[in-house]
Amino acid sequence: MMRPIALAIHGGAGTLLKGAMTSEKEKNYKDALAFALDEGYAVLDANGTAVEAVEVAVKALEDSPLFNAGKGSVFTAEGTHEMDAAIMEGNTLNAGAVSLITGIKNPVSLARGVMEKSDHVFLAGDGAMRFAKDHGFTLEDAAYFHDDLRYKQWLAIKDSDNFQLDHSDKKDSKFGTVGAVALDYDGNIAAATSTGGMTNKKWGRVGDSPMIGAGNYANNKTCAVSCTGSGEFFIRGVVAYDVSCLIEYKGMSLQDAADEVIQKRIVAIGGDGGLIAIDVHGNIAMPFNTEGMYRAKKSSLGTTEISIYKE
Ligand code: ASP
Repeated sequence: MMRPIALAIHGGAGTLLKGAMTSEKEKNYKDALAFALDEGYAVLDANGTAVEAVEVAVKALEDSPLFNAGKGSVFTAEGTHEMDAAIMEGNTLNAGAVSLITGIKNPVSLARGVMEKSDHVFLAGDGAMRFAKDHGFTLEDAAYFHDDLRYKQWLAIKDSDNFQLDHSDKKDSKFGTVGAVALDYDGNIAAATSTGGMTNKKWGRVGDSPMIGAGNYANNKTCAVSCTGSGEFFIRGVVAYDVSCLIEYKGMSLQDAADEVIQKRIVAIGGDGGLIAIDVHGNIAMPFNTEGMYRAKKSSLGTTEISIYKE
């Protein structure tokens, strides 16, 4: 029997509240998710690796202005964009991550560059930028990252100490971190996550997304996970690795482990958000405890799903 392939993606757990969603906006989000899903799945279908597939899917989401990553990244307190990304390979446990980078068109590709072209796992700030320039990664100017809506969101809070998480209930428009998890024909899994962080963030704030084990993790023995949510809590909950641990040490199923962390453990410490997870059998779990999560999945085992709110 042919081995399965599968891909799941997310565009953040901080969706527009249901009441604020119009059918036109909903279509735009779903089209963007469908495009990224197809791009990533085509890689798997053509016998590409899980790492290639998650990179391609996340790049497509980074290139869309709709999501808080790459082109659509939110503004920092200085009116700039600081992005974080990570990627991990489940068969080797190789990983790469970058944080506090500016002007990089596709942060996920830079994270992969760190994984494959350096002896390190995590590069931050100026050093990560020097690595990017040395290796010829594509740069864009500030205008590329400018989005009027995000700019207005920032102007509204820029002179305060507030920072705005994509998931704050007080906001009527919320955007999200992006991520992908994949299973390839060789039976390997991988995960990638990319984000612009939080509006008006300062002091070099870094969330869970680029932290291996917190917002992103992959291990063929257990699962590949990409998270979205209140980063400070996801770091403290070591969320992605916790899902893996529940499978490895407690023998839980992928779905049960993912639910336990998102519906119980992260809630118990005050966090909100969701995750996507996959295992080597092609099982996929996409739990969230917010009103919605932009998400999609496609597998050679079953049907395609593209959704925003609870079913
Ligand atoms: N987890 C991300 C962060 O805290 C935010 C998000 O998921 O939208 O940076």
